[in-house]
Amino acid sequence: MELNRRSFLAATGAAGTGALLGFLGLDLQPSVAYAADAKPRRGKIYTTICPYCGVGCGATVEVDEQTGKIVHIEGDADHPINEGALCSKGSSLFQIHDDPTNRRLRTVKHRKPGTGDWEELSWDQAIKMIAERIKKTRDETWVGQHNGQTVNHTSGIGCLGGAALDTEECYLLVKAMRAMGLVWIEHQARI
Ligand code: SF4
Repeated sequence: MELNRRSFLAATGAAGTGALLGFLGLDLQPSVAYAADAKPRRGKIYTTICPYCGVGCGATVEVDEQTGKIVHIEGDADHPINEGALCSKGSSLFQIHDDPTNRRLRTVKHRKPGTGDWEELSWDQAIKMIAERIKKTRDETWVGQHNGQTVNHTSGIGCLGGAALDTEECYLLVKAMRAMGLVWIEHQARI
C-alpha cells in the first residue's frame, strides 16, 4: 500500500483506537478491523480551498458520481496549511451545498438611504446599479495627468477581494480593475 499522509493518519488513528480498547480489556481484533474501514467512500474525491477566510485551508469534497451530488466535505490531511484540520466555520462547509434550514441569502437585498426596509433586487437590477455608480464615480474622480505625467487613474474607487476568490478569479478581477484605472486594489488575505 502506498503510504501518504492521509493513509498514515487513517492507519495510526485505527491503531490508537485499538490500543485504547485493549487497555480497557476489550477484544481488539473486530474493533481494529472496523476502525480501519470506518470511513466508507461514496464517491470521487476532489480537493478545494475553504472560501471563508484568508487562511486558505484545504478541504476534500466527496462527490457521488452517480448523482453528481456532494456527499461529504472534510479537511484535507495532505494540505500543508491545515493538515486536515478545519476551524468551526470551515467545518460547516457542507452547509454551502446543503442548507436544510434554507437560511442562506440567495437574492440581493438593498436598503435605500434613509429607509429601514430591505428591498429585494434581481441580479440584473443590482449589476446595473453597481455599473452606473462605478461609471459616475470614475468620471468624477478621473485623473489623467499628475505633475506633468500621464497617470490615467481613479482613486475614487477601491476593490477588496475576498477569500472566496480563487487564483483565476483574482487574476481576472485585477485585470478588470486595472483596466478601469483603479489603484486601490487589495485582498482580504493580506490585511
Ligand atoms: S477552515 Fe477556518 S481558518 Fe481555515 S480557511 Fe476556512 S474559515 Fe479560515
